[in-house]
Amino acid sequence: NAPVITLDGPGGAGKGTVSMRLAQALGWHLLDSGALYRLVGLAAEHHGVALDNEQALSVLAEHLDVQFLTGKDDLVQVMLEGENVSHELRTERVGGLASQVAALNGVREALLSRQRDFADLPGLICDGRDMGTVVFPNAPLKIYLTASADERARRRLEQLRSKGVAAKLCDLKNDILERDERDMSRSTAPLKPAEDALQLDSTLLSIDQVVEQILAEAKS
Ligand code: C5P
Repeated sequence: NAPVITLDGPGGAGKGTVSMRLAQALGWHLLDSGALYRLVGLAAEHHGVALDNEQALSVLAEHLDVQFLTGKDDLVQVMLEGENVSHELRTERVGGLASQVAALNGVREALLSRQRDFADLPGLICDGRDMGTVVFPNAPLKIYLTASADERARRRLEQLRSKGVAAKLCDLKNDILERDERDMSRSTAPLKPAEDALQLDSTLLSIDQVVEQILAEAKS
């Protein structure tokens, strides 16, 4: 049984960067579960499947033809049906599609075993919304990472600007609040901390400080 550390929390709290840094520091595998929901959203768009057609979306999720290729500098290229979708996957538009398909129970069920298959030696860091509550309920270390909505919107703006993408802070904050609401109020696997999760608020912490705290917990 491979050791697992789960990182859950709302979008923009720093889970992606922190997970990557933890995986590098420990030499463990990384599961970006949000990418799987984004891939289902994108596949739905490619195949013209409506975002409320649970039956068809569940089939799509179960048979998702995806490959994660690790290239130079450890950068992972995501291939969907043979096409490189790495950049498109990270867009706000695809994030919106993901959060809609993620509300469907059939889609979540279809992705369960695919996610559990990532748990392999020497260990797994997993980043998501329900890693500690549903996918890996027996994980020995569970983190719930949050930050204020203002700070998350500010970070998202900085990230987009560094890629040359224009955006308005108020639009980003509204989008974040809307997605929080959808993730927290859905009937299956709503976003919430696992009972045994360590809650960390990153509003006033640097990435380094968050990573250090989690590594200290992992070693204790
Ligand atoms: O983390 P990321 O922004 O890539 O996730 C995209 C969307 O996928 C989230 O807004 C959320 O609705 C959904 N998601 C989920 N459960 C996960 C990971 C992501 O519902 N474990």
